[in-house]
Amino acid sequence: MKAEIIAVGSELLTPDRLDTNSLFLTEELNKIGIEVLRKTVVGDNRDLLSEAFRDALNRVPLIISSGGLGPTEDDLTRETVADLLHRSLRRNDNILRYIEGRFRALNREMPEVNVRQAMVPEGAEILENPRGTAPGLWLEDGGHFIVLLPGPPRELKPLFREQVLPRLERLASSTRMFHREIRVTGLGESHVEQRIMGIYKRFPEVNTTVLAAPGETQVHLRIWTDDVEHAKKTLDEIVSGFEIALTDRIFSQDGSPLEEVIAAELTMHNATISAAESCTGGLLAQRLTSIAGSSLYFLGGVVCYSNELKTAWAGVPAELIQAKGAVSAEVAVALAEGIRRRVGSTFGVGITGIAGPGGGTEEKPVGTVHIALAHAGGVKERGVRFPGDRESIRFQASQAALDMVRIHFLYNGKQPSIRA
Ligand code: ATP
Ligand code: MG
Repeated sequence: MKAEIIAVGSELLTPDRLDTNSLFLTEELNKIGIEVLRKTVVGDNRDLLSEAFRDALNRVPLIISSGGLGPTEDDLTRETVADLLHRSLRRNDNILRYIEGRFRALNREMPEVNVRQAMVPEGAEILENPRGTAPGLWLEDGGHFIVLLPGPPRELKPLFREQVLPRLERLASSTRMFHREIRVTGLGESHVEQRIMGIYKRFPEVNTTVLAAPGETQVHLRIWTDDVEHAKKTLDEIVSGFEIALTDRIFSQDGSPLEEVIAAELTMHNATISAAESCTGGLLAQRLTSIAGSSLYFLGGVVCYSNELKTAWAGVPAELIQAKGAVSAEVAVALAEGIRRRVGSTFGVGITGIAGPGGGTEEKPVGTVHIALAHAGGVKERGVRFPGDRESIRFQASQAALDMVRIHFLYNGKQPSIRA
């Protein structure tokens, strides 16, 4: 089955508010094999709203809207849809009593405007909403299903799961979507595309999207079928092809972020890590500690921005900084070794670089970063020049540092060189 989502609310057309409900709805619908073909965001305007529903009805059998079920003048969804379907609105006394009860429980009188929320289009089923005042509504019309849900996410989500999903599951065929997300680092989007195109093009039934994200490229594979075995076999085959084409650049096959992959590796190997960060300002530590249970492997670290603190906190010899410059392979190595020694961790990471926009020179342009990984067997250093703005450079630096840990485990510390 195909669906469209209509997010109602003028606030969603301002820069302050994002329509997140449709992301939730799309994910839930996909899980039961319903594909979302279009999403519309429309302000609180009767004509535009009516047009949005009318157009969607011409295209798909299922429409789910969020918002505009409130009590005020600008909440128009209920009235507009009733008009469009030529249904009259009737007051539902059960809903009215429920709403009055909610106000009474708060020791308040129900304002007269709230009566609107008890108005139900003829023939609609009521989707009770114990977390709010306005119930959701389920309408069927000439083979179409129209579901009106309240806007607040904390009401919409449970309402959808408890009352809409079971109804849809009964309607939807057994076709489901099967999804894999491969993540790759150290290779740009177009390189990834070039290497895998020949593979996924052989499977036209699989929808493949290559997405560039900071420090990584994500490849989404989606197949719609009622045959679980077929889906699994097809996706496995494509992924095996990707593994050959992308070799060790794949870090995740289930969409998990790199820090999560590293956390699992460190935990599995009973290894610990520490970091002395300059240009990343603690981003590596932040990412490593963003995962629950990080105290198992992350011991600590320092942000040593100034030369003096590189010496004081990570034991980098002042003469070395003087001779080679703060942004240099030698200082990265000294940071990594210094912090590892001081903390007593299995691994020590040192990062130093120029995040920009200022501070670049001809010899060391903005984006130049040196990253070192120290361990019992020695130290590995990598000098890279990252493209992009300050934020992006910092993220890529943290990503590259995490990737060095991954590569270390992948080759048992014997990996000779790492590609830029
Ligand atoms: P209420 O009775 O609370 O007025 P409602 O059904 O009329 O409910 P809206 O007034 O449209 O819903 O939205 C209420 C709140 O829910 C908004 O302030 C907004 O923050 C949030 N909201 C609405 N639509 C969305 C959306 N599509 N994504 C995320 N949040 C939303
Ligand atoms: Mg409202």
